[in-house]
Amino acid sequence: MVWNFQDSYTNLPEIFYSRVKPDNFNNKKLLLFNEDLAKEIDLNFDNLNKNQICDVLLGNNQLDKYFFSQAYAGHQFGNFTILGDGRALLLGEHITNDKQRLDIQLKGSGKTPYSRNGDGKAALGPMIREYLISEAMHNLGIPSTRALAVISTGEKVLREKFEPGAILIRVAKSHIRVGTFQFGSLLKKSDEFDNLISYTINRLYPNLINKKHKFLNFFEKICDLQINLIVEWMRVGFIHGVMNTDNMSLSGETIDYGPCAFLDNYNPKKVFSSIDKMGRYSFENQPKIALWNLARLAETFMHYIDNNEIKSIKIIEEILNKNEKKFERNWNIMMSKKLNLDINNKNNNEVIKEFLDLMHIYKLDYTNTFLDLENNRLNKEIFKNWIKKYNKCKLKKYNKFNPTIIPRNHIIEKIINESYNGELNKLYEFEKILKNPYKNNINKEFLNPPTDNEKVYQTFCGT
Ligand code: AMP
Ligand code: MG
Repeated sequence: MVWNFQDSYTNLPEIFYSRVKPDNFNNKKLLLFNEDLAKEIDLNFDNLNKNQICDVLLGNNQLDKYFFSQAYAGHQFGNFTILGDGRALLLGEHITNDKQRLDIQLKGSGKTPYSRNGDGKAALGPMIREYLISEAMHNLGIPSTRALAVISTGEKVLREKFEPGAILIRVAKSHIRVGTFQFGSLLKKSDEFDNLISYTINRLYPNLINKKHKFLNFFEKICDLQINLIVEWMRVGFIHGVMNTDNMSLSGETIDYGPCAFLDNYNPKKVFSSIDKMGRYSFENQPKIALWNLARLAETFMHYIDNNEIKSIKIIEEILNKNEKKFERNWNIMMSKKLNLDINNKNNNEVIKEFLDLMHIYKLDYTNTFLDLENNRLNKEIFKNWIKKYNKCKLKKYNKFNPTIIPRNHIIEKIINESYNGELNKLYEFEKILKNPYKNNINKEFLNPPTDNEKVYQTFCGT
């Protein structure tokens, strides 16, 4: 037996989940398989052929077991909706040898009671994208859900046109989201929400269980993790693209790679989602939206923080304000490190801001310009005056801070197109390269920003 399943989520009241089974797929094929991750979480696939691995990953060796999809709600682009896993199910909670509890989720496995008008399926392209980008994020040192495998299903799924279908096997500390709490807070019986909040604290932050102000500490902890996460996203130029409250995990992991992207040329107002006309989820707006989502989270359990509503609101506001300031501070430290400045120097702001402005005006590549600075390759004309200021405060080089490689959209698009034609070599090459994103001497083909023809302007939600 490969899995060591021991489910706990299904001990919650039944309103929080539905029992489901994945569809049957007769022509499935293992396309991507993350052996390193399998080893890391103590899964032993030795002596299994690819077909058998697919069976294990899809739960086909557990015929007697029902799996489950989770109920949740969420603010999508500001509008509140009841949602749930419409195309995903949890195979189970796998316990590693060192007693970590990990959700094993299938994404694209068929309809569930939460599918609404959707087909419950996923197209191959977006699943390859999520695999590559979530693993790249992990290897960049940024908290993220992981990708264990992509299995093509042999089916065609209808998006803008017919596309090959696929399933992603995702590994996460948990899939409890801000939206799970929003769903819980709508329930009439207060003991159902009691159950959810106790379960979440026990599972994710057990060291808070006996704290006098555990609900307050719980909120503070989640704020802390989210703010740190957004600073990390901005370090590598990542735009999540759909920071809806159902896509914000209470574990502090980056989750749900839909219309996300890494910046090529620096533009703080950049959005990638085709429906984000107002720039709600633009690069620079990410910290503000994180705080907005955290306020929505706080609303669901305000009365646990203090019985007196006015007092509770005041406490929450203070925490949010503190975190806004913390973001500024941490962003400053992060940018100082990207520029190899002394983080204790109070006057870094100006040097940072001017550098970003020049990058913005001259449409310079976010990743490569920091590397150019480190390697004395900056454009002398553009940076002439700036360099003079910079040389006065430059300090030393921080290791593993500025990535050499990020998964750029135009490359992922090329790889996906090739994979649709059955050519997988580039996909495997890129997957390997992304394992060491701070390494030098990487094939130039993967490092260059897109030419005008190659630019991918938007990524679509129809995933
Ligand atoms: P996402 O944009 O992936 O975060 O999904 C938002 C919501 O739509 C979630 O409740 C998903 O489960 C649901 N959803 C997305 N795609 C599909 C699909 N093809 N079929 C059913 N539900 C879907
Ligand atoms: Mg989602």
